Amino acid sequence: MKCLKCPGKAVIDLPRHNSAFCKACFTEFVHQQVARAIKSERMFSPQDRILVAVSGGKDSLALWQILLHMGYRADALYVDLGIPGYSATSRSKVEQFAEAVAGPQGAKLMVHTVTEQQGAGIQDLANFIHRPTCSACGTIKRYQFNRAAVENKYDVMATGHNLDDEAARLLGNVLNWQQEYLDKQGPSLPASVEGFAKKVKPLYRLSEREIAAYAVLHRIDYIVEECPMSKGAKMLLYKDVLNRLEIESPGTKQRFYWGFLEQQARTTPASSSMAEKDQAALHPCTTCGQPTTSEVCGYCKMMARATAKANSR
Ligand code: SF4
Ligand SMILES: [Zn+2]
Ligand SMILES: [Zn+2]
Repeated sequence: MKCLKCPGKAVIDLPRHNSAFCKACFTEFVHQQVARAIKSERMFSPQDRILVAVSGGKDSLALWQILLHMGYRADALYVDLGIPGYSATSRSKVEQFAEAVAGPQGAKLMVHTVTEQQGAGIQDLANFIHRPTCSACGTIKRYQFNRAAVENKYDVMATGHNLDDEAARLLGNVLNWQQEYLDKQGPSLPASVEGFAKKVKPLYRLSEREIAAYAVLHRIDYIVEECPMSKGAKMLLYKDVLNRLEIESPGTKQRFYWGFLEQQARTTPASSSMAEKDQAALHPCTTCGQPTTSEVCGYCKMMARATAKANSR
């Protein structure tokens, strides 16, 4: 198989683009897709300070590497969830990457350790309050990433969500007609109110397979295993269904998600109207000061219940 752009030997074929690339041309393709995402969605400028949410997986580490390669000022935050047999490995992958790759380029890594800061690992916290682990995890991660971004004055927070993640999320939102989530799904969410960081997904134009290939070709040492809590998650089922469709009809995921974004751009007047709606409904949490629609934010409520339960034991 030959590279479509040069006489070199192709190392990856991309059926959805009807092409195949050698390592150098594929790398250029990946960087171009990220540059296009950043520009078309007005994610950030070269002057902005970016906080990348890293997990030790291929997507977030590849994103950090790509942004640094492109000359952006990107630091990272890792949240250690205290999951036995998983968190220690993912944390060491992140720390090694920070030391060997990101650090020498002037980037820094921050770590938030849930067992130290919240008093227990994510599974115990979730058990205390009778919530699924992933739901408690989502609340903690959203809160800590936002807080770190706002307190350390980053202009924007970037996550490694790829095309597969976004298409699967869209499928879930459509199947359940979750209009509120559909309204807010997108690769660039503005900092709608004071206290909420702007959030962007620069990898939304690249598939999971493409990012995995990029990570392997560039020798990024990432954690291959999924978080053990993800077993049986609906998202994995949606991804599986979309993968089957993709095999039969290359480009399905892209048409589905990008088509949704085009539709959304046509029908949503301007994100400002949503921002105004959010602004009206939000006020500072009486415990921590982060914006919330109720008196006390979801994170503080969750932590108060978990602490009460832990103390009564
Ligand atoms: S699978 Fe669940 S517990 Fe694991 S990182 Fe994802 S949300 Fe958190
Ligand atoms: Zn080539
Ligand atoms: Zn709060």
